[in-house]
Amino acid sequence: MSTKKRIYRGIASVLLLFVVCFGLRRVLDGSHEPEKSITIMVFNTVCKVTVYGDVKADKAFQEIIQKMSALHDLINVYAPDSELSRLNATAFQAEWHCSDELWAILCAARKAYAETEGAFDPTVGPLMKLWGFHGKRNTIPTDAEIASALAKVGLDKVVFDDEKHTVRFTREGIALDFGGIAKGYACDVAGEVLRAHGVTTYMIDLGGNIQLSEQPPKGQKLFTVGIRNPMDKEQLQTVLELKGCSVATSGNYERSRVIDGKRIGHIMDPKDGRPGEFHASVTAVTPRGVDSDIFSTAVFVRGEPLARKLVELRPGTSFLIVDEDKTITVP
Ligand code: ADP
Ligand code: MG
Repeated sequence: MSTKKRIYRGIASVLLLFVVCFGLRRVLDGSHEPEKSITIMVFNTVCKVTVYGDVKADKAFQEIIQKMSALHDLINVYAPDSELSRLNATAFQAEWHCSDELWAILCAARKAYAETEGAFDPTVGPLMKLWGFHGKRNTIPTDAEIASALAKVGLDKVVFDDEKHTVRFTREGIALDFGGIAKGYACDVAGEVLRAHGVTTYMIDLGGNIQLSEQPPKGQKLFTVGIRNPMDKEQLQTVLELKGCSVATSGNYERSRVIDGKRIGHIMDPKDGRPGEFHASVTAVTPRGVDSDIFSTAVFVRGEPLARKLVELRPGTSFLIVDEDKTITVP
């Protein structure tokens, strides 16, 4: 992408971020509480935060807007001056001293890499570029190109210093990409803000990463969350009834592209350097937002065996794996 285009994209995304609208709805049939919501653009996707009951939420909403905006600016790989872009550009030459927030995201990504046996790998940057997700490439990469990109993929090629909070790349061209963790992480940040402001009943939906408060709206036992049919976006696959948890779905139907008539998914298998074609969609339910985001991406890559391992490892975790011919729930 040219510098001009990059700048334009950066400005566009920042402008979008501030297209904020406040909503206030009162359902008068007695079965629902009043609700207030804000809708903001973050990570180039829509984030809607809804709070229920007669609560004052303005301050919490303002803080969420400010924190989401800061997170967006921190890890936006399309803006050359974001901390993540600067880290990516220089961490091979010299160790990068991370800000507290970037360090926290990096540590969450490192833990995810270990727990998912590398299925979740935040160093997929070179593969995303190779398969045309940053700048539009319109040919299928050759085996040699894939091999050369794979030489720059693998979190084991990044050296962490836990004392100094620095990272260093051992290969030139390594690029971190937080696309598979950022939305879940941001949901946790927003949830924390709401609870700190005394909001007990809320739903956060950041581009399909959903967080639900422990307390459902009055008159309801649980929240209802619709899961799309990955084969037909207009239809629901199922409806989940939940509270006090986070839900995320990874599928190839949202952000895929077509090269030579072939659908290219945006979730990469970091082992073979190719887009996963494994499942139609994977939904993860976990206590924390960051985990549902990570685990849905990782199980999309590795499937049921990894899902079984993760539910053992992490209490409160479950999966819905949807394929064309069958649906599996784990456990
Ligand atoms: P979505 O962003 O559509 O909700 P995911 O949460 O599954 O879907 O994240 C996909 C994004 O994560 C990709 O766009 C890319 O930025 C990044 N990514 C792709 N493959 C992997 C992987 N194996 N491990 C970690 N991140 C990945
Ligand atoms: Mg994810």
